[in-house]
Amino acid sequence: MSNPRVVVVGGGAAGFFAAIICAEKNPAAAVTLYEATAHPLAKVRISGGGRCNVTHACFEPRELVKRYPRGGRELLGAFHRWAPRDMITWLAERGVELKTEADGRMFPVTDDAATIVECLTQAAAKAGVEVCTSLGVRKVEPVGGAHGPPAFWLTLTDNTELRCERLLIATGGNRASAGLTVATALGHTIEPPVPSLFTFHIDDKRLEGLSGISIENVAVSVPGTKLKEGGPLLITHWGLSGPAILKLSAWGARELAALNYEFPLGINFTPPHTRESLLRALAAVRTQHPRKQLGTWSPLGLPARFWERMLAMSGIAPATQWAGVANAALGTLALQLTGAEFSVVGKSMNKEEFVTCGGVRLSEVDFRTMQSKRCPGLHFAGEVLDVDGITGGFNFQAAWTTGWLAGQAMAGAPA
Ligand SMILES: Cc1cc2nc3c(=O)[nH]c(=O)nc-3n(C[C@H](O)[C@H](O)[C@H](O)COP(=O)(O)OP(=O)(O)OC[C@H]3O[C@@H](n4cnc5c(N)ncnc54)[C@H](O)[C@@H]3O)c2cc1C
Repeated sequence: MSNPRVVVVGGGAAGFFAAIICAEKNPAAAVTLYEATAHPLAKVRISGGGRCNVTHACFEPRELVKRYPRGGRELLGAFHRWAPRDMITWLAERGVELKTEADGRMFPVTDDAATIVECLTQAAAKAGVEVCTSLGVRKVEPVGGAHGPPAFWLTLTDNTELRCERLLIATGGNRASAGLTVATALGHTIEPPVPSLFTFHIDDKRLEGLSGISIENVAVSVPGTKLKEGGPLLITHWGLSGPAILKLSAWGARELAALNYEFPLGINFTPPHTRESLLRALAAVRTQHPRKQLGTWSPLGLPARFWERMLAMSGIAPATQWAGVANAALGTLALQLTGAEFSVVGKSMNKEEFVTCGGVRLSEVDFRTMQSKRCPGLHFAGEVLDVDGITGGFNFQAAWTTGWLAGQAMAGAPA
């Protein structure tokens, strides 16, 4: 089919990119994108704190897939076809340069998400994509039956009806979206949506008044589960956040939802120390610096206010000299630092980036083309799928990659 009528439902990162790729690849295709709201690419515009963390400088697919609590296995082949380097090149060819931060996150050099929105909007216009805003897709029915090429009847939110031969559902992770209803009606199973990438509510004296303090590297775990993560920790007004917590929330999205977000959280503030190794290290400090005061000098590189709080919790006055600390107090301090346990009593969404775990079941989609295995001619891309990554640009990369694969396939290009 050289001039298929292609409809993309959803004007987010995945739908927009898929529409552009399809129209660029096959100029004879009539590509129309329907966006239910007045603002396509709304999430791109607010993403990454307004800077848009477009992708991540991770160029080895086997490494890249380790950043996806759900979908990593399915994305491996997909990343061999469209990976961060391809996205960087695609944007550069359209005049958008990216920069890499120390932790690997990539942003436009303008530090402005509008740069990405403008680039995609211009590319869509140039490729001839028809973008219809404030117009959603309400209902989809397959036509044609088992014989003849696949086609669909679509009912829009203004009740107009139209026919298309290729259909992409890219309606994102919103559980109330018609995308999931359409997918179900067309024979798909939906993995129940639950939030991912959230911060923890903790009401605890050890954290009181310390909001804003970050600790460079901690090990966090949920006792009684296999959940374990490491990385920077941020103390907030309401509890804990930072990369270590966000990663734990992503990998534990389902288990923590089942616990109704009430669970114990174990923290080692000085990994890889164990209580025993830290006790030995602190005893050595006591021998080497007997006259130094504990309150004015932390041998572990922890933020001063946090260290003071740990001393107080261990019953050690800040003016105490190291030589004057009893073994028992040192043991308590080592335990506070390596084996702290907190009670999480709820969650908040991370305003920098949050995503949905769950969506269209992955075994029902062919990841070479993003085509449904249940309904020929139907494709999926982006967060509507049961795919989600940790923070760092991985969620957009999944949207670009699945969008690219769907766009290529809908254009009629060989898979
Ligand atoms: C605040 C915030 C910041 C983020 N920052 C980053 C970041 O910096 N880096 C990163 O990698 N990820 C980030 N993410 C995650 C990332 O934005 C998403 O994973 C990504 O936008 C998913 O793209 P999508 O196209 O699948 O879905 P969406 O962007 O959600 O787009 C779906 C679109 O479909 C439309 N739609 C829904 N139903 C219909 C319908 N029936 N008909 C027509 N249209 C419909 C919606 O209105 C929406 O515009 C962030 C998320 C949030 C919430």
